[in-house]
Amino acid sequence: KKLGIVLVGLGSYSTYQLAPALLETKHCYLAGIVTGTPEKESVWANKYDIPRENIYNYENFDDIAKNDAIDVVYVVLPNSMHAEFCIRAAKAGKHVICEKPMAMNVEECDEIIQACNSSGVKLGIGYRLHSEPYTQEIKRLVKEKTFGAINYISADAGYRSMSNPDQWRLNKKLSGGGALMNMGVYAIQSVIYGTGENPISVSAQEYSTRPEYFKDTDETITAQFEFESGTVGSIMTSHNVRANRLFASCQNGWFELDPASTYIPLAGRTSQGKLNFPQESQQKLQMDDFAKHILFNAPNRAPGEMGRRDMIIVEAIYESIFNGGRKVKLDFAPQYGFGG
Ligand code: NAD
Repeated sequence: KKLGIVLVGLGSYSTYQLAPALLETKHCYLAGIVTGTPEKESVWANKYDIPRENIYNYENFDDIAKNDAIDVVYVVLPNSMHAEFCIRAAKAGKHVICEKPMAMNVEECDEIIQACNSSGVKLGIGYRLHSEPYTQEIKRLVKEKTFGAINYISADAGYRSMSNPDQWRLNKKLSGGGALMNMGVYAIQSVIYGTGENPISVSAQEYSTRPEYFKDTDETITAQFEFESGTVGSIMTSHNVRANRLFASCQNGWFELDPASTYIPLAGRTSQGKLNFPQESQQKLQMDDFAKHILFNAPNRAPGEMGRRDMIIVEAIYESIFNGGRKVKLDFAPQYGFGG
């Protein structure tokens, strides 16, 4: 059986990444859509052969509970709407994929996890890289300690937002925050899977060079992490700096991905040479992995606890900045939020 996925929110990520990937997936397919824009209904219905009864809007969405063709609800809306739609999906008895960042704050993450647990449905976060071979290779090198202890890890994730000050990502009510919420979660992810450890503290700084454009949200943030093993970590995230890299300096060598978190192609090297893996749609791999989790009990590569852990770190970073860069302690169980 192929699971039926419904995409909620037909913006650029659904249009250009997820829907095309769902034409290639083996264990799931695009069964339906949820949109607030009536003009999109017939365009998508024709393009993806979606029957009328599988098309919903934000108001009648809850009727999805009665639709057996829909197994999974994939929430691809602005961050402020993730919690509401994930919770409504769980209450309708559907499995949930929630885009990153998981929600506006840790409290909302808790509400999503709770709703999925009490309905007995599975929850995955849209962290596509965990299904992707370059990232998986980094995780293997870390697990097998190929280069010995990791002394330093750094990750950068940013791009230049130039021309649209009205976009929801720069509106704190809709995004919850700027670069850190959007790209920073990738850098946080990188330093965690790049060490195999959760951090025990963070200190952070914020920089603003274009306050007339970034009126409401953070432009550039740097943060430093401590890890139990002694590894030191550092991230930079920005809506005004182009950067996309993961680098680790180890006792017996080093490894690097550059770019580390864009769509394909990714690239990487280690002190032993170039990495070379197939470049397949990350979204295809991610959605098939989640379908395999539901169908065959395969590991959940990016569970809700992972999104929640990252939101705890995001909140700690904002707290540190608010307190002039003071160190904020973090206290995770060693493997909390690691997924499969
Ligand atoms: P987008 O702006 O292109 O699309 C947003 C969609 O939400 C549109 O269809 C819009 O009509 C709808 N919407 C409903 N209410 C809205 C409101 N009040 N304001 C603005 N739009 C509203 O955004 P996107 O790039 O598709 O991002 C959607 C989600 O997906 C975000 O959470 C984002 O972080 C995430 N995302 C993840 C990845 C990834 O690689 N995993 C990539 C891009 C986006």
